[in-house]
Amino acid sequence: MRYNLHTHTFRCHHASGDDRAYIEAAIQAGMHTLGFADHSPQFFPTNHYSHFRMRPEAAAKYVASLRALKEEYKKDIRILIGFETEYYPAIFDDLTAFIAPLELDYLIMGQHFLRNEYEALHCRADNPSREEAELYVQQTLEGLQTGAFTYIAHPDIFRHTDPVFYRELMTDFCRRLKSMRIPVEYNILGYRKQKWYPHPAFWQIVAETGNHVVLGYDAHNPEALLDRKTYDTCLGCLNALGITPIRFGDIVIRKPTENTKRSV
Ligand SMILES: [Zn+2]
Ligand SMILES: [Zn+2]
Repeated sequence: MRYNLHTHTFRCHHASGDDRAYIEAAIQAGMHTLGFADHSPQFFPTNHYSHFRMRPEAAAKYVASLRALKEEYKKDIRILIGFETEYYPAIFDDLTAFIAPLELDYLIMGQHFLRNEYEALHCRADNPSREEAELYVQQTLEGLQTGAFTYIAHPDIFRHTDPVFYRELMTDFCRRLKSMRIPVEYNILGYRKQKWYPHPAFWQIVAETGNHVVLGYDAHNPEALLDRKTYDTCLGCLNALGITPIRFGDIVIRKPTENTKRSV
């Protein structure tokens, strides 16, 4: 029985399909659990506009819609309500204060930019420096230490052209993630779209380190949840490395709370 904790909605402006259609597709796909983790709002201190995320005013309706559907479909499927979000140190407390009254079930970390987004590099940069690669690892670990996040989405979004440096850095990263019991996500959308992630070198390290692994659809339309072929191919890639994704029951679901604060 499958599950997926990485589902977007139309509210992030680059996904499609209504909430119900995702749930129907998940049931049709034989899933027992579907988690929504649309791109959260962020509260920038500048006039930076982040086009790929939910507007703050859409969040209450997002939660209300999913709560109603959760009740309606409770005999068929377990629905969890969360956000995919970054750890931006300067504005993380604003985000947690915004999230607290929504009483979400979980957050996944999807670190799309370094620093605080409005003054920094996109994590998909082609040729980042060593310092930037180190900052990616340092910043995500710092965010995960807040205890607010259930797992890390596309942990291999950040790349580096020096394979020796990359291996050393990511081995350290994977060891730290393992000691924190944070599962790492094998991103099915990245595989299907032939992005640079899932990055084979990273997953070799995951296999050696023995991290907990989750398969995440990163669904941006309901049909993605019905793509059994890509799921099976991704599972085959993991199995070939000796990796078995963990069961839903083995994931520590961390509820974000008002008490979640930056540790530094
Ligand atoms: Zn993402
Ligand atoms: Zn996503």
